[in-house]
Amino acid sequence: MKTIVQKFGGTSVSSKESRNKVADKIIKRYKEGYKVVVVVSAMGRKGDPYATDTLLGMINQKAITNKEMDLLMSCGEIISAVVLSNHLYERGYKVEVLTGAQAGILTNSNFGNAEIINIDPTNIMKYLEEDTIVIVAGFQGNNENGEITTLGRGGSDISAVAIGSAVDSEQVEIYTDVDGIMTADPNIVPDAKVLKKMCYSEVYQLAEDGAKVIHPRAVEMAQQFNIPLIIKNTYSDSEGTSIEEVNVNFINNRKELFNEKIITAITYKKGRVQVIVSLNEDEDECKIDKLMDKITLNNISLDLINFLADKKIFTITNEDKDRLISILEEEDLNYEIIEDCCKISAIGYKMRGVPGVMARIVKALSRENIKILQTSDSHNTIWCLIKEEDTDKALGALHKEFRLFE
Ligand code: ADP
Ligand code: MG
Repeated sequence: MKTIVQKFGGTSVSSKESRNKVADKIIKRYKEGYKVVVVVSAMGRKGDPYATDTLLGMINQKAITNKEMDLLMSCGEIISAVVLSNHLYERGYKVEVLTGAQAGILTNSNFGNAEIINIDPTNIMKYLEEDTIVIVAGFQGNNENGEITTLGRGGSDISAVAIGSAVDSEQVEIYTDVDGIMTADPNIVPDAKVLKKMCYSEVYQLAEDGAKVIHPRAVEMAQQFNIPLIIKNTYSDSEGTSIEEVNVNFINNRKELFNEKIITAITYKKGRVQVIVSLNEDEDECKIDKLMDKITLNNISLDLINFLADKKIFTITNEDKDRLISILEEEDLNYEIIEDCCKISAIGYKMRGVPGVMARIVKALSRENIKILQTSDSHNTIWCLIKEEDTDKALGALHKEFRLFE
């Protein structure tokens, strides 16, 4: 049985016209002989009648439990799935609409950000065998008590990949409103280019570091189960971006298959706060141990960690700032806080072992008079912390320096 999973994002299902385009994509696969499972997000974006943010705007979020909030938010995808099925019925196809729970998605009870722990595809398979197109409401599942849970923002991508692995999908197609994954956010860098192929680790890093085109957990899961992912445009017939495994040992022999540039793409995450804790000569390192324990207890996650003998530098999110400051005060530490920072990431699996990439980044930013507050690197990413106000300029400079527009 040839099976395929297609996921359609919010804008793809927001209007009658776009839903007809979605139906075209589904029918095309169906006619090619695939058993098709469709996963949908809620219709539209903030302000649209049943978009997730609109549903959230209807309630006082302080007077509701997380469980009820999930019940409310899960409605958006259910509405979207039923409305889309309408278009397929009209065109004469057999369709079955399933909630996440009915599709067999079992999650833990972490309402609002639940993790999938198992999928029982029996129900989906039953309909596929009857040659029915199955539409599943994305972004949701249920816990072992049968209570509805949601998977966190962008969670329909996760639903799609998880279902893809459960039904042995040939690939998972993620349809959105751009032609694929681009070298930078097209809203900021106008000459950003669509990438034809990327490897899982690059896309994971890109998503993790802020590009919202796909959920990082979905990429991680696709890699784990070795499912090819493809990002395509609902509104065009462009080839899209295909995401596959790359064997690092063969990188140089496979140049023709993947992007030849050292940097594949750049992205950014705003709302970062840099923290610099200084120890006086007579102060004990024990104070830092205590600080770290409290940070862990408070579930504050640290990033870009740089510990020197007399200075401990790291970044946190804006949301954690007040809690961290009260801990620093309690521990009577000297500290400095730099707010409104942005973490820029330059990602490319080919930078491993290539000298001089960081130097090029630093020079490109300095030429634009952008102050670099901190840097860090891994085998496939270089990060620079800068002030938020420099974000657009920095992205433009790096895009140009690495000739990503070509
Ligand atoms: P969907 O509703 O289909 O899930 P999203 O809004 O989650 O769509 O993701 C698609 C959007 O991601 C695009 O419209 C684009 O503005 C944005 N985006 C940010 N960075 C990138 C990038 N590097 N490549 C492509 N799109 C990006
Ligand atoms: Mg999305």
